[in-house]
Amino acid sequence: MSILNTILHLDQNYLIIGLLAIFFTLEQVSGTPFSFKNRGKHLFQNILYQVVLTALNVFFVSIQVYCIEWLNTHEIGLLYLVEIPFIAKLLIGVMLYDFTTYWIHRASHTVPFLWRLHRVHHSDTTMDSSTVLRFHPLELILVYQTGNILAAGIFGLDVNAMVLYYFVIYIFLFLEHSNLHYPTWLNNTFGLIFVMPDHHRVHHQQEQFYTDSNYADIFILWDRIFGTFKWMPVEKMKYGLVEFEGEEKQSFLYLMKSTFLHIERVESPNLNTETNKNSPPCEEDNSFKTPL
Ligand SMILES: [Zn+2]
Ligand SMILES: [Zn+2]
Repeated sequence: MSILNTILHLDQNYLIIGLLAIFFTLEQVSGTPFSFKNRGKHLFQNILYQVVLTALNVFFVSIQVYCIEWLNTHEIGLLYLVEIPFIAKLLIGVMLYDFTTYWIHRASHTVPFLWRLHRVHHSDTTMDSSTVLRFHPLELILVYQTGNILAAGIFGLDVNAMVLYYFVIYIFLFLEHSNLHYPTWLNNTFGLIFVMPDHHRVHHQQEQFYTDSNYADIFILWDRIFGTFKWMPVEKMKYGLVEFEGEEKQSFLYLMKSTFLHIERVESPNLNTETNKNSPPCEEDNSFKTPL
């Protein structure tokens, strides 16, 4: 219980700084699957998003916590209809926050206004652990924090479950975005239930067929159940979005204002287009059969 207590009272910023330091160093000293230039500049630009988010959150996190506590005080939500032990409620809470995030993320790929915010995250052509921070602050505040309040109201989740959820999700996010070699057996074991780095790499693939897949952050189960799981071999991957290629379009200031610009989605001209012509590629790829 003391470990759980520590987690529930841990300052999220310390968690992020600690994970970033560990993963960024590992990427620097070990072999990486994708080559990388100007890591320092890339890191600095991505940290700027976190700085703005932290400043805005001084105000917005209090609103989120206030709303969820109000819902809890009035016992609003499905889990208030049943008696569940504290620990079970925490774990179910983490699953249901992740479930809600899956649907919001999926909607962010189809609703134009949400995509304008979300494409900032997908614009990164050189993904590494610092890409975890590369979200438009308005997306995290207006879309995902509102989503957490909705999840709390529908399912009856509390702030403790949300704090634990953030602890778990940040560990997964750093694993998923890091530019490190992971053993492939992970995909066929833990990867049946949890999101593995190779799953999320598919999500950052340039071609929209692949970008619109593997939406989950913690439980890949959601993608497997709701038919959005896709796979492609790591060696065929090319990250980013065609419309955001070029150094000036990768800058913090351009990406912050890009949300308010009309930018057409451009289909990737490269890689798997030959196989794309007739049938969706790699969804049934024989090189990787993942048993359910
Ligand atoms: Zn996405
Ligand atoms: Zn990502």
